[in-house]
Amino acid sequence: MKAHDGMYIDGDWRPAAGTGTIEVVNPADEQVIAHVPAGGAEDVDAAVRAARAAFPGWAATPPAERAARLAALRGVLAARQGEIAETVTAELGAPPQLAQAVHAGLPVVVAGSYAELAASYAFEEKVGNSTVLHEPLGVVGAITPWNYPLHQVVAKVAPALAAGCTVVLKPAEDTPLTAQLFAEAVHEAGLPAGVFNLVTGFGPVAGQALAEHEGVDLVSFTGSTAVGRKIGAIAGAGVKRVALELGGKSANVILPSADLAKAVAVGVANVMANSGQTCSAWTRMLVPADRYEEAVGLAATAVAKYVPGERVGPLVNARQLERVRGYIRTGLDEGARLVAGGPDAPLETGYYVAPTVFADVTPGMTIAQEEIFGPVLSILKYEDEDEALRIANGTVYGLAGAVWAGDEAEAAAFARRMDTGQVDINGGRFNPLAPFGGYKQSGVGRELGAHGLAEYLQTKSLQF
Ligand code: NAP
Ligand code: MG
Repeated sequence: MKAHDGMYIDGDWRPAAGTGTIEVVNPADEQVIAHVPAGGAEDVDAAVRAARAAFPGWAATPPAERAARLAALRGVLAARQGEIAETVTAELGAPPQLAQAVHAGLPVVVAGSYAELAASYAFEEKVGNSTVLHEPLGVVGAITPWNYPLHQVVAKVAPALAAGCTVVLKPAEDTPLTAQLFAEAVHEAGLPAGVFNLVTGFGPVAGQALAEHEGVDLVSFTGSTAVGRKIGAIAGAGVKRVALELGGKSANVILPSADLAKAVAVGVANVMANSGQTCSAWTRMLVPADRYEEAVGLAATAVAKYVPGERVGPLVNARQLERVRGYIRTGLDEGARLVAGGPDAPLETGYYVAPTVFADVTPGMTIAQEEIFGPVLSILKYEDEDEALRIANGTVYGLAGAVWAGDEAEAAAFARRMDTGQVDINGGRFNPLAPFGGYKQSGVGRELGAHGLAEYLQTKSLQF
């Protein structure tokens, strides 16, 4: 695979300060496909300096011009969608159709949405005798995960650039090639030098140096709760803004009046997509007691369509594979009933996990509380709506969820009582303009749409 042997800093590919490298592995066949440099504090410092130097000019660039550059970026991402999809398939293992439609397709939509928002957003407002200016926050340090390697980058970089901020990105070590393609796209779109910078490297080295750097005004992080806590503490010590998009353990609540077959089929698809590596996946299915066995049977039938190596890709790396298989063993040890899948490897090569469904899961079990990040669904039973709500809200997380009922009003009434940032009503479709982010330990801040743009702004009030 094509790879740059350098960092994208100040509008150019520059050699890294050190000699360390990252091996990029294709998780479907375990072959090394490329090497990229592993940056350190020196590279981060050079990138932050470039971003600082570019900030005043970009912040002063009229929003219409920023919008034009973002529209150009959207155009490049659209033109190179095929190449992006192939790269995501190679380094994440995503099946080609998913890679094309979601991994490469969604970022085009999100970049386009910020081209429009940059042009239309009210960066000034009147409040009584004041004019309130919404000004860019400064230099953004963005740290992203591998699960949606381009989407997670664009969901931070596009609103930051729309707001007038400049950016240093540290992408996940597992998916640096997609990030390098993004840097090429930024270059091709004609963004001024230093407005966007890329440092590939390992989290505890390059990521930490970026979060700690005095020249960074806002750290935007997506990933695990464990690392998110550290980032939050670092940002607190430096009095920096911080945005954290962390894990989830979302509930798919099927109320008694729901179309059970549809709710189960969509629920299974939601968990199996991207091999279960989706922070907002509805990994707990809540079913009324009197329809429980029917739902379990429907789920077993639905999951059979998800064949590893065909519709389901591998997990991203060997560590995630071991982690997910460990959770499956824990589910068995704690007494859950295995309906499909299990801990055994379904294929000889590649980091594949068998799509797994557990029944008789109780709310206190580990598999009902912790984020597994693999193709594993837990089906729980409830007696009445109040119990369903207690179970749905009974984790430390609150990122997403779903409610199914005979009519939308009934489902929406239940959704209002859920402690979570997003709820899909009767299979409502994804909206790239709706705010995305967590209640409770699922995070701090919101991404996407106008709410996502506001995260990169600070206010100044002028009194007249
Ligand atoms: P992670 O370690 O939190 O990785 C996220 C990003 O943070 C990566 O770029 C990572 O770099 C970087 N990072 C790691 N340690 C850091 C540090 N000390 N300071 C600054 N940056 C640091 O997540 P992971 O290990 O890849 O995945 C573990 C679990 O996290 C998953 O099983 C899942 O539960 C959860 N997760 C959640 C999301 C989400 O969308 N909310 C996404 C991915 C994973 P490296 O790539 O070099 O580690
Ligand atoms: Mg990590």
